Amino acid sequence: MIKTAADMVRALRRDTYCGVILYQGPSLIDGAPIVVIANRIVADSTNEKTGAMVQTFIIRQDMRPLDAARLGYDFSICGHCPHRPTNDGSCYVNIGRSVESVFGAYKRGRYAVPHVDYDTDLLPELFADSVFRLGSYGDPAAAPFRVWQHATTRVKARNGYTHQWREFPQFAALCMASVDSEAQAIEARAAGWRTFRVRAASAPVMTGEVVCPASEEAGKRTTCSDCRACGGTQAKARVSIVIAAHGTTARRFAAAA
Ligand code: SF4
Repeated sequence: MIKTAADMVRALRRDTYCGVILYQGPSLIDGAPIVVIANRIVADSTNEKTGAMVQTFIIRQDMRPLDAARLGYDFSICGHCPHRPTNDGSCYVNIGRSVESVFGAYKRGRYAVPHVDYDTDLLPELFADSVFRLGSYGDPAAAPFRVWQHATTRVKARNGYTHQWREFPQFAALCMASVDSEAQAIEARAAGWRTFRVRAASAPVMTGEVVCPASEEAGKRTTCSDCRACGGTQAKARVSIVIAAHGTTARRFAAAA
């Protein structure tokens, strides 16, 4: 069993593993079997908006992510997110490419298993000084808070969003509340959250919000790994964030108007 972060980095560089499993067990949303996988630990992310960042994927253990999304079994890992494909198809994650590829590697045993392949005590040092994404795909609240808290103890910054902010108030420390209306933003902020709000392009920015600097409307001035604002109440930033809807989400907002 790998006992130190240095040995784990060597194993990742040698490609013995392509990442680590952070959690395998029941979804805290509905009890179905899920797994949380971290990758891009020693390689840079190629995601244009996020930049270099440890990525994490929250997926069902027992079915392909595309099937879960198509049949609605992604409730276990996405909960009440309005962007689920069975809702309106506006989820921005390319499930068919990145998420399916993570699931395939998981089934081939390419990710180190906690308590079997590695000692979880090494995680804080493994991720020390990284920028860490909670839920590149999936909602972080589907997995236990203590798993995320432990893994991210020494990170430089966290980046995460949850739609389950009413049910999992602990996550306010690590994540932004994803909200889709001014009323939700007011409710979440009153409950102690910083919010990440999607607004119709014509709707105003609220008091206490700034426009995401990586957005189209702000001229894509930076990436999340440099900005580091979206890390809940433990981030340095105190403001909430707003972004104008784009793509399918914009069409949904227009239809609702
Ligand atoms: S505000 Fe910063 S951290 Fe949040 S989404 Fe925009 S660029 Fe990323």
